[in-house]
Amino acid sequence: MIYFDHNATSPLLPSAGQLWLEASQRWPGNPSSLHRLGSRASTVLEEARQKLATILGCDALDLVFTSGATESNNQVLTHVSRTLPGDQQIWLSAVEHPSVLGPARFYFPNRVRWIPASRNGRIQAEILKEWLRQSRPGLVGVMAANNETGVLQPWQQIQAWCAAQEIPFFCDATQWLGKLPAAGLGACDFLSGCAHKFGGPRGVGFLKCPSRGPVTPLIRGGPQEEGRRGGTENLPGALALVQALQTREEWLAKSGAVMPAGWRDEFEQRVSQALPGLEIVGQAEPRLWNTVAALFPQQECQQRWVVKLDRQGCAVSTGSACASGKEETSHVLRAMGFSEGDASRMIRISAGWETTAEDWSQLLEAIRAVHETLSTPAS
Ligand code: PMP
Repeated sequence: MIYFDHNATSPLLPSAGQLWLEASQRWPGNPSSLHRLGSRASTVLEEARQKLATILGCDALDLVFTSGATESNNQVLTHVSRTLPGDQQIWLSAVEHPSVLGPARFYFPNRVRWIPASRNGRIQAEILKEWLRQSRPGLVGVMAANNETGVLQPWQQIQAWCAAQEIPFFCDATQWLGKLPAAGLGACDFLSGCAHKFGGPRGVGFLKCPSRGPVTPLIRGGPQEEGRRGGTENLPGALALVQALQTREEWLAKSGAVMPAGWRDEFEQRVSQALPGLEIVGQAEPRLWNTVAALFPQQECQQRWVVKLDRQGCAVSTGSACASGKEETSHVLRAMGFSEGDASRMIRISAGWETTAEDWSQLLEAIRAVHETLSTPAS
């Protein structure tokens, strides 16, 4: 099977898997225990936190290990809902992941102002700039890279605007991390990510949040993580997360992801020729080098394409893993101004670090073969 669904989850990197196992055996103590096995586990955990802080460019004290980005995102909104005055708004991009949208709607009913996106999937930063001139929200949240379209958001610019006005800035960097250099992300006040999107294990992520002042925990009932997240720390998971991210950072520093981006671009060109009427979403904007979001020509064909490509040996997706399998059309494409009908034609193809030019060619052949069967009228 050729795997083109890395934005949903990535296979575990062997080195991260090995470290996970080693850590489970080598440091069996609970980091909170007072005996030597406990204090060794605690030391190793703090070393991992420091390494992550160095990669992100922030203070290790500001980092909390969590179960993943969904938890981290919920934690941000829980915390902010407890600290803001009851009438203050938060401003979020309209193309955020459901793990941001859900808690935002829950904690801030009628108090979220949505930052619009263009038809190319990039948020309209000029509109945000104008709003910032006129008023002051309690939080601005814009993801780094979109999980469905791969479109990059101008988080650096927005972070700088917010910092200048001392408005807390929140960035969900789940899809950016491992695919593009992490440098600079540590400047965001709140930052979330998870290991399984870059070759680490599932069930571990992190949150960067300000260590000055209390942080309202989402998970209560334990003093771990300086009282910011209760529960025994996932030491092997945290170590493997850092190992996987370091490996990806080294790969990026060496390759710049130039060749994989070239293969993706060539694929887009060839698939557009093979399937007249196919539209690549967000093509005019800077995007992740691994992602192709395409509106396939036939109406209402999403699920059929995924199943038929699966039979041809290629795993692709209809959009975000959280939305696929359900009938809902993508809120991201809807926010970009596409109709329900258009949104129901979207297929997301997301390559990985180990994907080869040959894999892209085979995917193209599989798409051609499926296209033929779909265009042949049933007798
Ligand atoms: N944010 C984004 C942008 C994502 O793509 C995802 C995963 N689809 C999440 C958050 C949630 O991550 P996790 O699986 O770690 O809960």
